[in-house]
Amino acid sequence: MMNSNRSLEMKMAYQIFNWKIWLERYKTLRRALERADKILKEKEALQQEINILEIKLSETGAQSELSTKGMSDAEALEFDVLKEENMLLKDDITFLKAKLIDITEKEESLFKLEKERALLDSSLRELECAFIAAHSDMLKLGPMQHDAWWEKVENLEELLESTANQVEHAALILDGYHAFQDKVDKLEASLGATNISEFCLYLVDLLKKRVKSIEERFQACNREMHSQIELCEHSIVEFHDTLSKLIKESEKKSMEHYQEGMPSEFWSRISLLIDGWSLEKKISNDDANILREMAWKRDNRLREAYLSSRGMAERELIDSFLKMALPGTSSGLHIVHIAAEMAPVAKVGGLADVISGLGKALQKKGNLVEIILPKYDCMQHNQINNLKVLDVVVQSYFEGNMFANKIWTGTVEGLPVYFIEPQHPGKFFWRAQYYGEHDDFKRFSYFSRVALELLYQSGKKVDIIHCHDWQTAFVAPLYWDVYANLGFSLARICFTCHNFEYQGTAPAQDLACCGLDVERLDRPDRMRDNSHGRINVVKGAIVYSNIVTTVSPTYAQEVRSEGGRGLQDTLKIHSKKFVGIINGIDTDTWNPSTDRFLKVQYSANDLYGKSANKAALRKQLKMSSANASQPLVGCITRLVPQKGVHLIRHAIYKTAELGGQFVLLGSSPVPNIQREFEGIADQFQNNSNIRLLLKYDDALSHMIFAASDMFIVPSMFEPCGLTQMIAMRYGSVPVVRRTGGLNDSVFDFDDETIPMELRNGFTFLKADEQGFDSALERAFNYYHRKPEVWKQLVQKDMKIDFSWDTSASQYEDIYQRAAAQARAAT
Ligand code: ADP
Repeated sequence: MMNSNRSLEMKMAYQIFNWKIWLERYKTLRRALERADKILKEKEALQQEINILEIKLSETGAQSELSTKGMSDAEALEFDVLKEENMLLKDDITFLKAKLIDITEKEESLFKLEKERALLDSSLRELECAFIAAHSDMLKLGPMQHDAWWEKVENLEELLESTANQVEHAALILDGYHAFQDKVDKLEASLGATNISEFCLYLVDLLKKRVKSIEERFQACNREMHSQIELCEHSIVEFHDTLSKLIKESEKKSMEHYQEGMPSEFWSRISLLIDGWSLEKKISNDDANILREMAWKRDNRLREAYLSSRGMAERELIDSFLKMALPGTSSGLHIVHIAAEMAPVAKVGGLADVISGLGKALQKKGNLVEIILPKYDCMQHNQINNLKVLDVVVQSYFEGNMFANKIWTGTVEGLPVYFIEPQHPGKFFWRAQYYGEHDDFKRFSYFSRVALELLYQSGKKVDIIHCHDWQTAFVAPLYWDVYANLGFSLARICFTCHNFEYQGTAPAQDLACCGLDVERLDRPDRMRDNSHGRINVVKGAIVYSNIVTTVSPTYAQEVRSEGGRGLQDTLKIHSKKFVGIINGIDTDTWNPSTDRFLKVQYSANDLYGKSANKAALRKQLKMSSANASQPLVGCITRLVPQKGVHLIRHAIYKTAELGGQFVLLGSSPVPNIQREFEGIADQFQNNSNIRLLLKYDDALSHMIFAASDMFIVPSMFEPCGLTQMIAMRYGSVPVVRRTGGLNDSVFDFDDETIPMELRNGFTFLKADEQGFDSALERAFNYYHRKPEVWKQLVQKDMKIDFSWDTSASQYEDIYQRAAAQARAAT
């Protein structure tokens, strides 16, 4: 895929080069038109001269009359002749004037031509923009994204056609100028026939010369314009040909690519196709299950049937698939994640990274993985491939009524994803933001219910339903209290709490909205919160799930005491099913040697790119670049109390005091905190060593990870934390507080109780300024005084394996055990 993208990229660059030549030609055409303008101005001057001549002639006529009065007969006769000649000359001048009016009319046509040219210019600019956009889209294109590519190409073709039409029109107007030559000829002939005095002859001769030179220059200009138009037309034809070739080659390449070894994207598409047919009742649930399993095992017969299906009607494809639908067995699991976030399509924080990272790792291990998400209006639609709505409406219960839901499918990062769009008047996911709405409890209880309804109606044989955080914690009680009673009970429920700070509490009766039985559940051993009379959804998920996990072993320990935010006793009761598994990072997304957001890609063995990115970020943020080795400290975070906001604030001043540079990227949902950091940003706006960027910006986050030398995570508590791992992968040494997942992934460089090969950063325990200072100062010391040791540390950090591989295996183990128990129970 990399190669095919590279070759497409080269071809597109060649094409843009062609366009540049084409634009050059238009510039020449423009210059020709400017010359034509000049000629017209000269014509105006000429007209003025004629006017003067006319005035002079009339004066001469008046003088003649006066003179005649005191003359002899012979003299009078001579004056009479002269007078007659003057009359003739007057006539000639009138004729000349008429001709000039003609020229003026031509001038108007020329203005029209000028207008046409301006139109042509703007079409060209539009075309070039569309082409550049198409080019950048091409780079993002995977071989499966031909639909979007075709659309772009069609737009380009339309633009080309309209440009060609305009060129043709301009050529027609230019042809009209040939008539001008005839007019000038006639003018010449009539001038020749005129009998005038020598003085007048001299003037007329002068005029003739002028007219001739105008005519010659006009002709030259005309010729030049014609040849430029021809060249442009030729370029358009050439461009068309190359574009068609390019499209054909791209199609061929993508087909070849599929045939070599289909990417996950391909199989995800097949599996969504099968699910769509099953939901739309075009195939039976049993056939769908068999076909789904074949797709999951990447059965070549399905691949061949699909590849040879181009141009076939859907029914024929279904029939050719059904012929192969023979039952088999699979060793992998069918896992469905129900979540409120997924990177990069709907990301607020680490949860999004986990859904795509863990999902991809589980898929790579041979499991069938699917994701169900709300269809948010604000999600990054451009990150979804082949997004389409199914021809089915899923009815789901809420507050005593049934509501329709549209079901969309698409692939994200090669994973099959269902997007649920409720047709509920509450417009639950049309809020321009993911969370923070007054009715979040309602919105997500609604979503959890539809997600389960979708699985139930699809008739899939799911092994594991994995829900995440309070937003989808409703799934666990709904599954066992509602759907198991309907016979949908083969799956096992896994619940992961990514942060016990957020538990989803509400008055007990709110639970009834999604169809849960408040009386049954509002009990201390079920869903009633441990410290107040409200309902607690995270507690419900702990009680009702078969597996409960959190995101690091240290955090799993911490939440068994006060870190559990009131749920410690519940966790102790259910400790047998509770485990901490550290998150990984998506090493495809976070890879400095392929990261498209970086100015220069780099690796542990070639660190040049790291300093180039540092220089680029400094330039981009208008920071001082006087000292290349001045250390740059980075911090990317949500600005919430959990993240140690007071220590982040302190770190800004401390870094300045130590002579370093500091870049913060973060925003806060808490207005006071946001305001406070805006104040600090203002305070430092003229300081070229400190930058506070109070926003969410994915592209910039990549640049900061790459550019920074050190990265701070001074959290009060941190369930897992991803930024310290991403920072290390980008060669930025972490300075962190020893808590939760930070304690499981960062080991102090000076701690001799830890094996040297594991030591990878600087840590502190006490959540105060002294604690933080001691760690940051040590990091600065190594950086300045032992650059070689520092470089080795950077290289070591970059080589640590933070991939999902190991953690996904742990999830797979616990899923397998739960699924085996489920099978044993039936
Ligand atoms: P949490 O999930 O508690 O927010 P994590 O460290 O687990 O923290 O994950 C945070 C993720 O969000 C990381 O991928 C980080 O790069 C990203 N992130 C946080 N804030 C921003 C921001 N302002 N702009 C871009 N990415 C951000």
